[in-house]
Amino acid sequence: MVLEKLQEALAGAEDSMLDFKLRQQQAQLPTDAAHPADAGQREDQVYDLIIIGGGPAGLTAAIYAGRAALKALLLAGSLPGGQVANTDLVENFPGFPEGIAGAELAQRMQSQAERFVDQLVTDSATEVDFSSSPFVVRTHSETYRGRTVIIATGAFPRRLGVPGEKEFFGRGVSTCATCDGFFYRDKRVVVVGGGDSAIDEGLFLTKFAREVIVVHRRDQLRATKIYQERAFANPKMRLVWDSVVEEILGEQMVTGVRVRNVKTGETLVIETDGVFVYIGMVPVTKLLAGQVELDEQGYIVTDRRQHTGVPGVFAAGDVQSPDFRQVVVAAGCGAMAVIEADRFLAEHP
Ligand code: NAP
Repeated sequence: MVLEKLQEALAGAEDSMLDFKLRQQQAQLPTDAAHPADAGQREDQVYDLIIIGGGPAGLTAAIYAGRAALKALLLAGSLPGGQVANTDLVENFPGFPEGIAGAELAQRMQSQAERFVDQLVTDSATEVDFSSSPFVVRTHSETYRGRTVIIATGAFPRRLGVPGEKEFFGRGVSTCATCDGFFYRDKRVVVVGGGDSAIDEGLFLTKFAREVIVVHRRDQLRATKIYQERAFANPKMRLVWDSVVEEILGEQMVTGVRVRNVKTGETLVIETDGVFVYIGMVPVTKLLAGQVELDEQGYIVTDRRQHTGVPGVFAAGDVQSPDFRQVVVAAGCGAMAVIEADRFLAEHP
């Protein structure tokens, strides 16, 4: 049962990854597709370190690897930056007292990684083999070998899995307020979820929409107090408690959601032009099946020093822990993973 749910979630994550990337393109996140390091891969080359993933954990790992003088390759995906690139404003990353746009923070991290890392490739891993050293990491077009690997593949938005969600994705259903909020000027939107993301993004939507209705399955928000206070104080935001979305309705575009109160069983239709789903994340670990230990939710199991069960293979960021999901934590874990990889290399010359 757990396995079935996991497979379902991972399949959803793949779709989400595509949507997410399309959205990054729409948001015109600067990319590095023409990075000179993309040219000329060598099959016989063995890297000290291969970093898989171009979010804050992977980009920080790349910076640290460069500064540790490791011969390192960063497989940053086709559009580096990770989830933070789709965040409107980051107010809790140290060094930016006024806050910084998520896309700008991501771009700055990428520039810093490019400055230090030996090689940055804007491509994604499709297969890994950790059964013997050097470890093998494949993309669609290349095969790379590394003495150590850091997995920092991140996580993608979980889907509701209700009728209408898939059909109307991109036609009223979204997981990115920063990308799509602009289209809902003076309209009514529904946000699903009660965590930091739902409230943070819902508050962002109040800049455009005339009303933001947050549908949450409990009678208490999970979001941190500062977000709760902002939500309760915002006249454009309304909360619908104890309720789950059962169906997303529409014809060409979304026109409403059918919601059921989990305490009374009553259903009602909320008319809306858009539905923003923020109900947590799913780790991107499909390519790791059978290679490293995953927990029952699909996250990579590590010790406190970022080691997976395979000596020389480390993990960092949201792919390894559902507990924090903070840019600063992902960055810190990326740094720790490189320090440990460097120690491993010293101990296994
Ligand atoms: P989250 O904290 O896991 O919250 C997910 C929310 O969705 C919860 O309220 C949960 O309800 C609800 N939910 C889960 N599955 C659902 C389903 N099937 N149907 C309906 N509702 C469902 O996820 P998140 O908000 O994406 O945040 C993830 C992490 O990122 C957190 O650690 C958060 O602190 C962090 N984050 C931080 C910031 C910031 O600091 N600026 C901004 C965004 C996110 P229950 O509450 O009932 O479980």
